[in-house]
Amino acid sequence: KIVLGIETSCDDTAAAVVDETGNVLGEAIHSQTEVHLKTGGIVPAVAQQLHRDNIQRIVQEALSASRISPSDLSAIATTIKPGLALSLGVGLSFSLQLVGQLKKPFIPIHHMEAHALTIRLTNKVEFPFLVLLISGGHCLLALVQGVSDFLLLGKSLDIAPGDMLDKVARRLSLIKHPECSTMSGGKAIEHLAKQGNRFHFDIKPPLHHAKNCDFSFTGLQQVINKRIMKKEKEEGIEEGQVLSSAADIAATVQHTMACHIVKRTHRAILFCKQRDLLPQNNAVLVASGGVASNFYVRRALEILTNATQCTLLCPPPRLCTDNGIMIAWNGIERLRAGLGILHDIEGIRYEPKCPLGVDISKEVGEAA
Ligand code: ATP
Ligand code: FE
Repeated sequence: KIVLGIETSCDDTAAAVVDETGNVLGEAIHSQTEVHLKTGGIVPAVAQQLHRDNIQRIVQEALSASRISPSDLSAIATTIKPGLALSLGVGLSFSLQLVGQLKKPFIPIHHMEAHALTIRLTNKVEFPFLVLLISGGHCLLALVQGVSDFLLLGKSLDIAPGDMLDKVARRLSLIKHPECSTMSGGKAIEHLAKQGNRFHFDIKPPLHHAKNCDFSFTGLQQVINKRIMKKEKEEGIEEGQVLSSAADIAATVQHTMACHIVKRTHRAILFCKQRDLLPQNNAVLVASGGVASNFYVRRALEILTNATQCTLLCPPPRLCTDNGIMIAWNGIERLRAGLGILHDIEGIRYEPKCPLGVDISKEVGEAA
């Protein structure tokens, strides 16, 4: 079995060809990060245009690199939910056209399911396992019981951690910092944090007393903003210039965010073990999404998993951020499980919003 995967849910146009054993036969990606950095955030219409400009070339590149003939494909898998409507639309209409041309089955993909299953391409991981997905648009903890069988244990009540980091990086004008002018907000914060003091000031992690697995990052962002304003006054500089204490602020926000993520994940591990939803020993925690490529967060999670007899697994950084490989692999997983393969594509629509699995987050809070 060989699947072509296509991803356009946000700001990356990506495609890949993956076989049943997880071999990546070909891949290509076009990132829009630099363009969106300049406008201080994603402008959906701009993202849509860039997807349109690049999708044909990216899919062609992935197919050519794979050295297979398109007729050898078993199916075409494409992200149809959740994501930016205008972005999802480009990938879906392109894919449906291709499906029509090649007369192949279509596999609609849930972007977060794909992030969650990526680990099964790189490691031998059996169900069930716990997954923590932390990116620019998402933040959730879920128990993965099967290819399409998820229990949602907790999610962000407001913004996602990557979004928070991007906002803080923008407020710090890190785009003007010579060392990180081309990095995403999260990457810039990680880079600068290495030179800073994480205990520069003391901030309590969000939702300190909440006995559930939910997350919140808006409050943290606001506290950091206040600190930045205070520092600007102290250093006598205007908003828009880079603070000399930017590294300390980066280290502090990264540390506080990591503490919060670890605490919520700890609750999820305890809940699952209490309910016998995960094995008592050697349970697997998978961390993925753009923020999981952060090594400080990974290290903090490693300390947690060591203390709870769990194993932490993270896909390599380039598979943590959006890519076509995870979509193609999700297609393979679905083919093998006989799930969601469409031969009749009439009436298929993209869905900008779509929760992952059965939401039991309230139950988690009540069980505490
Ligand atoms: P979605 O949420 O739909 O998956 P996304 O574009 O946010 O979309 P990703 O590519 O997985 O998906 O993640 C990008 C986010 O990850 C950005 O917010 C970025 O700042 C953050 N990020 C990237 N690298 C790092 C890093 N090293 N440390 C912390 N955050 C990072
Ligand atoms: Fe993503």
